[in-house]
Amino acid sequence: MLEVSSLTTAYDGLIAISDISVTVAEGEIVVVAGANGAGKSTLLKTISGMEKARSGTVSFAGETISGLPGHEITKRGVAYVPENKRLFPRLSVSDNLRLGSYLHRAKADREQPLEQVFALFPRLKERLPQRAATLSGGEQQMLAIGRALMTRPRILMLDEPSQGIMPKLVDEIFAAVETIRKAGVTVLLVEQRLAESLEIADRAYVLQTGRVILSGTAAEVRDNPDIRRAYLGM
Ligand code: ATP
Repeated sequence: MLEVSSLTTAYDGLIAISDISVTVAEGEIVVVAGANGAGKSTLLKTISGMEKARSGTVSFAGETISGLPGHEITKRGVAYVPENKRLFPRLSVSDNLRLGSYLHRAKADREQPLEQVFALFPRLKERLPQRAATLSGGEQQMLAIGRALMTRPRILMLDEPSQGIMPKLVDEIFAAVETIRKAGVTVLLVEQRLAESLEIADRAYVLQTGRVILSGTAAEVRDNPDIRRAYLGM
């Protein structure tokens, strides 16, 4: 469904990701792991059109999407929740969600994803009039995911959704990712919490200094001796 081929992205001449190839099949949860600065965020930014690739291609559902503007990529069914979430802090939960669905002109079309978001995160429904800035870190993450779901994506890309969130809510976020997949949305998840991610993932890629150093099924990655030592603390 998503095919990233030999993608290279640089910032002012400095290579952040180099020759990365990643595939995600429909219905999968795929994790991209790696230390700080490995290039995980750059990969998602390049797929979503926020950064321009220096070389390589991204195709989605058989169509080349690299080079398209971000909103065109969103329109084709690729949603992206960046690490900094980019919510509208002064706007209410309700308005933040509504802004997520602007791509869908038919009003009737907005009700269904909204119900899906409320089923996933009942806390958001209780806080509709509240300003986004006053939500807890975990609630803001829920809102960012909810807003992305309002575009009715076929694939959802999440950049470290567990970051800066208290443990109880981390479990809730991971459970939500599983529910999202069950609802038919494919997931590409960037995470530093490798152990938890592998529990819900089908496959994983591990990046190091901008390159893929390992990929395989969740079980293969979990059982890899280097990974156990470096990432899983075993
Ligand atoms: P983290 O887990 O810390 O978010 P990451 O794996 O997501 O790390 P990236 O944020 O993709 O890594 O960064 C990859 C490399 O690109 C790093 O060396 C980083 O310093 C550099 N980089 C990222 N964004 C920019 C930018 N806007 N301008 C210049 N260099 C950047």
